[in-house]
Amino acid sequence: MHFVAVQSFSNYIDAHIILGRLKNEGIECWLKNEATTTIIPVWTTAIGGIELMVSHEQVQRAGLVLERIAEEKKSSRICPVCFSHQVEYINTLRKPVNWLSALVTFFLGDLALMPEQRYHCFHCGAEFEKPLEPANN
Ligand SMILES: [Zn+2]
Repeated sequence: MHFVAVQSFSNYIDAHIILGRLKNEGIECWLKNEATTTIIPVWTTAIGGIELMVSHEQVQRAGLVLERIAEEKKSSRICPVCFSHQVEYINTLRKPVNWLSALVTFFLGDLALMPEQRYHCFHCGAEFEKPLEPANN
């Protein structure tokens, strides 16, 4: 199967959140340079970041999902840490999609599968229970 890079990330966590979203949509994808950037983060910029590789046949569908994620990011939610609008609601209750969550599931068993919903800021990487609502300001 032929894969093409559709997006690149400098942040490991952001890359995995997007990867998880695409996989939930049944899109065949993986992260290039992931091992290098995780072990030696300083290389991330040098090698062009973590690249999101998507199956050639599913590039168009992946694009739609990425567009939807971008729309969600532009929503009215505001990060309480850096006041960025790049906030997304994430649900951590999902099948292990990478070695890290697989490891956590292995050690914690059902405990790791407790539904945990929270917000993730794509700008500063903060995770929090409740974003700021602009209507209340
Ligand atoms: Zn933030």
